[in-house]
Amino acid sequence: MSENEQKRLQIPLVIDSLSEEEIPASLINEIYEQHEIQDIRFKNRFVCAYCKQTVLLYSRADVQSRHGHLYHFQHTPGTECEWRSDKVGRAYLYQGIKEGNKHRDLKTMLAQTLNHLNGWLVISVDKRFLFSPDQRKRGKPDVYATYKGTEVVFEIQLRAESPKIISTRQELYRDSGRKLIWLSMENSEIVSEDFSKNCIDVKQVQKDIAFTNRGNWFIFNKNMCQDSIDAGQLVLLAMVWTPEISANKIIYQWRQYKITYNDLTFEKGEVFYKDFHMMHRDAIQQLRQRGQEKCLLILEKEEPRTFVDFIELTRSAWPTFDENHDAEWLRCTFNDYGNNKKIALKAAILDFFKSTDWREKSSHEGWTRITQKISNPKIGININSNLVVIEKILLILGYKISEHLSPEKSKHIWACHNFYDYTSYKPYRELCQKAIEHSKYNNQIVSDKTMQKRINAPVDIEQKHDLDDFLAWFMKNPLLPLES
Ligand SMILES: [Zn+2]
Repeated sequence: MSENEQKRLQIPLVIDSLSEEEIPASLINEIYEQHEIQDIRFKNRFVCAYCKQTVLLYSRADVQSRHGHLYHFQHTPGTECEWRSDKVGRAYLYQGIKEGNKHRDLKTMLAQTLNHLNGWLVISVDKRFLFSPDQRKRGKPDVYATYKGTEVVFEIQLRAESPKIISTRQELYRDSGRKLIWLSMENSEIVSEDFSKNCIDVKQVQKDIAFTNRGNWFIFNKNMCQDSIDAGQLVLLAMVWTPEISANKIIYQWRQYKITYNDLTFEKGEVFYKDFHMMHRDAIQQLRQRGQEKCLLILEKEEPRTFVDFIELTRSAWPTFDENHDAEWLRCTFNDYGNNKKIALKAAILDFFKSTDWREKSSHEGWTRITQKISNPKIGININSNLVVIEKILLILGYKISEHLSPEKSKHIWACHNFYDYTSYKPYRELCQKAIEHSKYNNQIVSDKTMQKRINAPVDIEQKHDLDDFLAWFMKNPLLPLES
């Protein structure tokens, strides 16, 4: 090693004070963009990894190098540091060089692996500039290859690349129609067979890469190299940010999959094994479906009286309930439920009058059961309601009570007669007239011969109004179909 060479390697490892990362001096060219290197020269951004004192960046022209220069660091004059002396720190010095080489080795390892595999052709390693279609942007991919004729670009993630660099590269290669895969080189120990998900420390940069790749980032290392050669195709580890449902909530974790290149999907400049966004939508949809099922149970079991009560109960049973998205469904369901309940009650009332218990034994038991369940006073009936009047009103409205008591047998007209002819019915004459107005057979009734004289007969008895609410409620939507 020449004296000059030794001087350049004086500081093998520096610390980037911005990211607090250790950076091998020999990798400055590969890790930093040109503008960053300019910046480094003017700001005291790096310190010696050994003495932690600010160091200076020197460069010399070198056409072979990425930015046209080679770089090295030196201590400022007068600094006391063991790395300045020849005697001590050699081991550390060479360790630093080895660190730098490891990164470079990965590119070589990847390129060599690809060369072993069918369909792959490595075009260049860290050599060739690729341009955007308008020639304004350029990038020098770490490994540039083709797979069955399609151009694929690999970038090795070495340090904390900023989200901006990640997305700029992505745009560049997307716009030029090339496929881009960022690869991380995690320690092979960490991702060995007995990999435990807890021991991997996902760095911000890997999250940033995942963010622009539907929640995916990829690892290539010595083990993957071996696996690829064994499998005859490129094997990677995919780390996927995965939503999973647990205790009615979505939890997120990194899931690891050993995959091959053919398992990847490339779309709009993104590369992924599993699409986080799609899985996330599915999980939300699943929770929504469960939530809706619970809502239906709540309606059935707890019978909330008001919509506000219903929302309250919903929130506790459906933690991901989203006011903006789900309120309309909830409102419709509540209305439907309310309507179904009203229809069911109307049908139960009609069924009571059709029942043999009532028709043949005049039993009030069925009526008692119905009225006991009613809590809404607006329905206007109770245990003491005048049942024979209600029965005739239903007939006038057009409901069929039995084969005999049906509109086909003109029993709706016969039912009207009662309110004009008999003292016990006369107090409900006004009720009868309202029922006629509501009746499907209104025209038929008012034009019927037998009704002509009766209709004009004066009301000569005090009128009762205790069933007015009932008639109004019964004829309000939802209507009980006449045929039932
Ligand atoms: Zn030092």
